Amino acid sequence: MKKTKKYKIITFGCQANKSDSERIAYVLESSGYKKTADEKNADVLVFNTCSVRKSAEDRVFGQAKNITKIKKQNKNLKVILTGCMMHHKKEYLQEKMPFVDIFLHIKDLYTLPSLLGETLKIKPKEYLSFEAKHESNFRAYIPISYGCNNFCTYCIVPFSRGKEYSRPKKEIIKEAKELIKKGYKEIWLLGQNVNSYGIENYSNKTIWDGKTRKGEKPIIKKGCCTFSDLLKEIDKIKGDFWIRFTSPHPKDFTDELIDTIANSKKITNYINLPVQAGDDEILKKMNRTYTVAHYEQLVQRIRKKIPDIAISTDTIVGFPQETKKQFENTKKLYRKIGFDMAFIAKYSPRPNTASAIALKDTVSQQEKERRHKELTKVLEKGLLKKNKQLLGKILRVLVDEKKKGKAYGRTEGMKLVEIQNPQKAKIGEFVDVKITQTGAWAQKGEIISQK
Ligand code: SF4
Repeated sequence: MKKTKKYKIITFGCQANKSDSERIAYVLESSGYKKTADEKNADVLVFNTCSVRKSAEDRVFGQAKNITKIKKQNKNLKVILTGCMMHHKKEYLQEKMPFVDIFLHIKDLYTLPSLLGETLKIKPKEYLSFEAKHESNFRAYIPISYGCNNFCTYCIVPFSRGKEYSRPKKEIIKEAKELIKKGYKEIWLLGQNVNSYGIENYSNKTIWDGKTRKGEKPIIKKGCCTFSDLLKEIDKIKGDFWIRFTSPHPKDFTDELIDTIANSKKITNYINLPVQAGDDEILKKMNRTYTVAHYEQLVQRIRKKIPDIAISTDTIVGFPQETKKQFENTKKLYRKIGFDMAFIAKYSPRPNTASAIALKDTVSQQEKERRHKELTKVLEKGLLKKNKQLLGKILRVLVDEKKKGKAYGRTEGMKLVEIQNPQKAKIGEFVDVKITQTGAWAQKGEIISQK
């Protein structure tokens, strides 16, 4: 009897990579492979890599000893490297990772079966058009675009993923409908610059003034629409589910988009709005195209229309030449805005990016760590105060994990809740939870009713 071939995918990095891995899994399974948790008996081991920080790459380089050992015992094993690290020259990767057999640009996913010597031939097509073998049966990621045209000076994405490409609207709606029909409860729309989906250009080509793009007529790519219209279409699909999206760029956050979120029942009251720094000079050096005042005005406009919105952010500390005063400005902004969460990163120069080429990495690692800790403290203090308002409230929670006799879920605003009566919690179901205890990073509560 023919032996079933097995595969394992190890994914590093963000949701976009997780979603790509689900498409890689689909292609492998279409070629007859079955998933295994153990690389020792796998025929194919895929590393889907991240390049956003040097430490992410080091984790892949660090696999060398282990994989070389496994390959000695498992002679059939083929190791594939894909994902963001493919922006490096092949010779460099080969030298660092001699254990890799196949280097695959994710855009060439259709070539994978033939590279593995399989008979299945797939017609060339955009890799996002492949089906996904979803890991979860209640939460699904739908990539609506990939790549980015923004060239923030610290960011590797325009190099690793290339120019922005938007998937046809029809394909996205079809995927969303199928998932909702299957009972999925949370749909995440993904894009590196998710809210520039479908836009070729703005007709009057004015530079964004930080206030609004309302009135500007965007030129829409063939087969697409604006991000706002895409959300409206998905919102119309019948069913009980949440819509989330990440990551929007402040410059593309139109008033129309704010209205769409405000008027929708299914788009969650949660926005991750990356600010990156709270100082105009640093923002300019980052090429973020907005000022602190623009960002604040945008937050005000969002809060005016959607008062119970939860806003999280992303920030880089220790950007080249960031002075202590400039860092203090970021702390000030954190206090002023009162974020509902923040993802704080220490600057790490990435090859070929403008900041790595033109700006000396002047802030020491020790100082970056100090700033990281300080900003986290500011965030924590704000969260403690803010989350107190949740005490006694009844919030809808999507249960997403059960471990060691405990159950956990997230609110619409992405607040983590530890459920005190876990016997009533079922993974993948919505429940109404009364918040009984609040904290900075997690809340506690009791299920009072199930949906
Ligand atoms: S918008 Fe995001 S993905 Fe695009 S270059 Fe800037 S940080 Fe990178």
